[in-house]
Amino acid sequence: MDRRDILRSALTLVPAALLGYVRSAFGTAVPADYDESKFFYGMGVDVDKCIGCGRCAVACKAENDVPPEPFFVRTWVERYSIKTNGEVVVRNIEKGTQREAETPSGKETLRAFFVPKLCNHCANPPCVQVCPVGATFSTKDGVVLVDKNRCIGCRYCIQACPYGARYLDPVKKVADKCTFCYHRVVRGMLPACVEVCPTEARVFGNLRSGASPLVRFKRNHKTFVLKPALNTEPKVLYANLDGEVR
Ligand code: SF4
Ligand code: SF4
Repeated sequence: MDRRDILRSALTLVPAALLGYVRSAFGTAVPADYDESKFFYGMGVDVDKCIGCGRCAVACKAENDVPPEPFFVRTWVERYSIKTNGEVVVRNIEKGTQREAETPSGKETLRAFFVPKLCNHCANPPCVQVCPVGATFSTKDGVVLVDKNRCIGCRYCIQACPYGARYLDPVKKVADKCTFCYHRVVRGMLPACVEVCPTEARVFGNLRSGASPLVRFKRNHKTFVLKPALNTEPKVLYANLDGEVR
C-alpha cells in the first residue's frame, strides 16, 4: 500500500468516524442506515406569521427535557415594539424579562412583531472554534451539537455565541442548546417547535433537496440572517424581518 492508498482509505474512514462521533453524543438515537451526507439542515422563520403564542418554546422544553426555569431555553420568542420616536423595545416572552418596563411611558408604538430565536446552527460557528476539548462540533448534515460526555462545563462556548443561544445545564453542568431536535430529524420527523407551530411560522428542511419545504421557503421569500456582519453564516433564515432586528 503506497502513501496515496493510505490517504484514500483514511479519507473514506472520515464520514464513518464523524457519524461515530455523533452517535457518542446521542447514544443510539441515530438509525444505523442514516446517511448524513444526503442532508444539510436549516430552518426558516416567517416573522409575519408568528403570533407570539410561545407554543414552540413550550414544546421544545417538553421534548428536550429543558429545565423549567425561564432562563434555560433552547428556543424563545422576542416581542419587538418600535416606538414613534424610533426607540426599539424588546421583551422576551419566554424568558419573561420585562425590559419594556424600563421604557418611559407615553411613547406610542408604531409597530410590534414577534421574532422566534434559537441556535442558528452557524456554518462558521464561534462556539465550535473556542471549545478547548472538541465537545462542541459541526455535523456533516449541518447541525451544531454538544457531546455531553466530553463537555467540561468551561462556558467558553456560552460566551462566544453572539446569539445568546447556549446555557449551562444546571444539573449536568454541561453546555446545552438547540439541536434542531436531531434525535427526531434523523428519523424523518420535524423538530418539536416546527410541528406544534399553529401558523407554520417555522419551516424546517434539507437544503440539499429541491423538494424540501425550506428550499421552497427560500425561493418564495427574501431571507435574512441575524447579525450577518459577524460572518457566522447562520442556517436559520428569516423572512419579513424588520431592519431593526438585523
Ligand atoms: Fe454556536 Fe451560537 Fe452559532 Fe449556535 S448560534 S452555532 S451556539 S455560535
Ligand atoms: Fe410563533 Fe409559531 Fe412559536 Fe407560536 S409556535 S410563537 S406562532 S413560531
